[in-house]
Amino acid sequence: MREFDFATADTVRTALALAGTGSAFLAGGTTLVDLMKLDVLGPAHVIDINGLPLTGVTVADDGLHIGALSRMSDLATDHKVTAAFPMVAQALLASASPQLRNMASIGGNLLQRTRCDYFRDVASACNKRVPGSGCPAQTGVNRTHAILGTSTSCAATHASDVAVAFVALGASVRLRSRSGQRTVLLDDFYQLPGTTPDVENVLRPGELITEVVLPPLSWVRTSSYLKVRDRQAYDFALSSVALAVHRKGDTIADARIAVGGVGTKPWRLPAVEAALQGNPATEATYQAAAKNAVIGAIPLSENGFKVTLVQRAIVRALVELVGA
Ligand code: SF4
Repeated sequence: MREFDFATADTVRTALALAGTGSAFLAGGTTLVDLMKLDVLGPAHVIDINGLPLTGVTVADDGLHIGALSRMSDLATDHKVTAAFPMVAQALLASASPQLRNMASIGGNLLQRTRCDYFRDVASACNKRVPGSGCPAQTGVNRTHAILGTSTSCAATHASDVAVAFVALGASVRLRSRSGQRTVLLDDFYQLPGTTPDVENVLRPGELITEVVLPPLSWVRTSSYLKVRDRQAYDFALSSVALAVHRKGDTIADARIAVGGVGTKPWRLPAVEAALQGNPATEATYQAAAKNAVIGAIPLSENGFKVTLVQRAIVRALVELVGA
């Protein structure tokens, strides 16, 4: 681990004053400290922000406000979340382990780095870690990699579960810096790898996620998060589905859907939503709609199974949530 300065902030203003290029905010530390030990990350300045007043969940006219320092386990059991946004609670409980959920913050979860083994091994080339060094996953070990949003520079998946639920729900993130505050749709916050996979999001140096806002939408009470993985605990998604459906009689009036484990960022599926809207709640509808999930998919040598898997996961999620 490289040497670094350490400071503690107890107000947002202090944290932002201390921050800048080469600094990192420390919340739960479940990603940052891990990657510092591996020498993948080496911030010169670490700022402990655990004392900032950025915890808790509040209801406002524009939706549910989630403090970025709320812990995953606290959010997963908050009745305002479990009652109105079940897919969020389910996504959190499908993530990591109880111990990690007790430590990890929501802001940190959204910023967690990929689990591509080449990224985490400093002896390997990796365009995301060392720009221009290459992407051994293109022809190497790539079974868990993405099939959507990839480039020849990078095909790493985004590892968060709750970010998939947030994207499905049209969530925004509030960002604070010394120059002010801005709000960004989470779907726009994440960037595709293109030729610069080291740039994963629009966060600027020294900028801090302060909260997540979920827009109010009463029918998303009917929602779920389905996660398919190699083992049923403490594993990352091979494919996951965050789904909310508004059913009127035998017809699907509206739907929100995003998938994880297959995209280089949490992957919203407007073409699947459109194919569900106004159509009967039948398995035939679900199967036809699910085909739209893989438009533009580019499998690598070992992950072609995800093309079928994600469609089956979508159909299964629809059958279990809505019926057929
Ligand atoms: Fe690095 Fe991305 Fe290639 Fe993995 S897929 S080796 S993270 S560039």
